[in-house]
Amino acid sequence: MAYSIAIDGPAGAGKSTIAKKVSRELGFTYIDTGAMFRAMAIYFVDNGIDNKDADMIGEACKSVTIELAYEDGAQQVILNGTNVTSRLRDEAVGNMASAVAVYPAVRSKLLELQRNIAEKMDVVMDGRDIGTCVLPDATCKIYLTASVETRAKRRYLELKEKGENPDLSKIEKDIEARDYQDMNRETAPLKQAEDAVLVDSSDMTIEDVCAAIISAYKSKLN
Ligand code: C5P
Repeated sequence: MAYSIAIDGPAGAGKSTIAKKVSRELGFTYIDTGAMFRAMAIYFVDNGIDNKDADMIGEACKSVTIELAYEDGAQQVILNGTNVTSRLRDEAVGNMASAVAVYPAVRSKLLELQRNIAEKMDVVMDGRDIGTCVLPDATCKIYLTASVETRAKRRYLELKEKGENPDLSKIEKDIEARDYQDMNRETAPLKQAEDAVLVDSSDMTIEDVCAAIISAYKSKLN
């Protein structure tokens, strides 16, 4: 049996940083499901597909193949044979990903891929609906969150470090809009699974958060 840690939470809660570190410490594979939604979004952006056109989106899903590969341990996303990893973090791609993640056709396509992976190997999988939908029997479920202010500040510092000139209040508004969209959609909305451990990282270091998650995971093994 493969072991799995499901980490869900809102945008900017630090899921990927934490999931990467936890997976390294446990020798698990890190699966970034947001990257899969982002890869689908790249297909829609590149093909000029309107994110409000449910029929077109449903039809387009049939032409999309997404695969994961690993380079020096880092997840690479292959969209219809092309490695699109370097484009995943574009703002337009993130917004498209959130907009199309509401469609059952998009979700069911990725759900199958996510479940297949988790069946074969030990994973730390992060996303919005991993504990509630994708892996309802995950070994350990975590709901990782932080205040909007903290999440916006982290994103602000990240962009500053990249040499950009970000606007903190715009980042805060974007995060609020993304939260609303993810928490209020009909299919697989973001919410804490009943059996998930809540971790609020607002006043915690990365090391503290990882230690809390590893300890929650180990307690499930006993
Ligand atoms: O986590 P990330 O910001 O990369 O995800 C991009 C978007 O993909 C999210 O805003 C969310 O709408 C969607 N997503 C999702 N379910 C997941 C992972 C991501 O709906 N498991």
